[in-house]
Amino acid sequence: MTAAPAPTGRVLATLNADGSRRWIRPKPSRGKFWQRRRAVAYGLMLFFLAIPHFRLNGKPLMLLDLTRREFTLFGTTFLPTDTLLLMLLGISLLIGIFLLTALFGRAWCGWACPQTVYMEFLFRPIERLVEGGWARSRQLDKGNEHFHPRRLVKYAIYAVLAAVLGNTFLAYFVGTEQLSHWMMQSPFEHPTPFVVMAITTVAVFLDFTWFREQTCLVACPYGRWQAVLLDQQSLIVAYDPNRGEPRGQPKKALPLAPAAGDCVDCGACVLTCPTGIDIRDGLQMECIHCTQCADACDTVMRKVGKPEGLIRYTSKESLAGHVRHLIRPRTVLYPVAFALFFGGFLFALETKPKADVTLLGAIGQPFTREPDGSVVNQVRIKIANRSRATQRYTVDLEDADGARLIAPELPLNVVNGRTVTTSVFVILPAEAFHHGQKQVRFRVSDGAAFMQEVPWLLRGPEDHDGKREERDK
Ligand code: SF4
Ligand code: SF4
Repeated sequence: MTAAPAPTGRVLATLNADGSRRWIRPKPSRGKFWQRRRAVAYGLMLFFLAIPHFRLNGKPLMLLDLTRREFTLFGTTFLPTDTLLLMLLGISLLIGIFLLTALFGRAWCGWACPQTVYMEFLFRPIERLVEGGWARSRQLDKGNEHFHPRRLVKYAIYAVLAAVLGNTFLAYFVGTEQLSHWMMQSPFEHPTPFVVMAITTVAVFLDFTWFREQTCLVACPYGRWQAVLLDQQSLIVAYDPNRGEPRGQPKKALPLAPAAGDCVDCGACVLTCPTGIDIRDGLQMECIHCTQCADACDTVMRKVGKPEGLIRYTSKESLAGHVRHLIRPRTVLYPVAFALFFGGFLFALETKPKADVTLLGAIGQPFTREPDGSVVNQVRIKIANRSRATQRYTVDLEDADGARLIAPELPLNVVNGRTVTTSVFVILPAEAFHHGQKQVRFRVSDGAAFMQEVPWLLRGPEDHDGKREERDK
């Protein structure tokens, strides 16, 4: 078999030169940044797990109900008709991400992204614990021992965790009550959600077992955006070549040798990097700004008696010896744009009607006749309660003297965020119709903040006094 040709350019950090997988088992560096990130990570893990259980205004904090096409965020339910609101919120979030990246670089990736949080503070620690440390994991890789008993134990633990995360993921879409109900039943009674949960569990398992850091390197679009989202002033984790170069081991035997840089070329920053890169090569797309290299290097600097911060939070401008400016076009324009769009969103949210009322005609015949000749119109009234509490709606008829309104289900209780359709029947004498029509108005009210009048055209016999119908008999 001929050997694979040698690569001509830089190879992805997770690949060997021959194209095979390079497994990355980073050595943890438990420095000051790691301590802070760990506290944030555990808080976020709890938060991610708890979100579906939290309630606000009697609703889940977040529920993405795809079947009903309703999104509940922070106790407010958005319906399919809320396109403008969702668009304003979506654009605000996007601008917020742009602004955060311009100010703090990829802080999201290193500190808060679920992929990093779970990988670095749950799955990798379990791997090190079960396999006997990062160096032992590397030995297992070298020996191609992917089914070593310790690895099988690790896979089993990963599978349990993936199932927990898969079920939590499903709770974001169906709610915790529904999920608990399903968990008590056989999967055959709810096959579709079960398949969604099973696929999610398998995807989570494969992600943290096999795909791992490649999610950040090749799958996540955010890393690719950084080329345009970062500027010379953005906060980045970077190696200071002015201080570090020329790198090399200190030459104690030659006190008069030219002064070396602070980097002792120990490789600790590379050994600890969860994406397998060398930060001394400059800012790279693969860098998730996790600060592990900064922690590793600080430890080395303390050992060799040099100041910490050879790898640190800085900016390209600062590294070039200039002052970092916080005020610059993008840090002015992004907040202005964010204030405009998010302000627009809040305004639209506060001023939107407290309910949506839609009238629909009868299915089938447009009207029916009573034995006494009077005309019956069935009208279906759809009410979407957009307020923050359950409401009791009444319906009245306007511009219809002599009409009787029969509404078996009124007043109608509608839980906030829910939509209910009810039928009412309007009975009018045939003489009330002119050319087969009678214009009326329905007034829907919750008795407090909401009242809406909706015009509606009732249908009746063609001849306004009913004589044509009599003639036709
Ligand atoms: S850890 Fe610091 S001293 Fe060691 S190679 Fe990296 S930059 Fe140089
Ligand atoms: S280069 Fe440093 S900050 Fe970037 S991913 Fe690697 S360890 Fe984290």
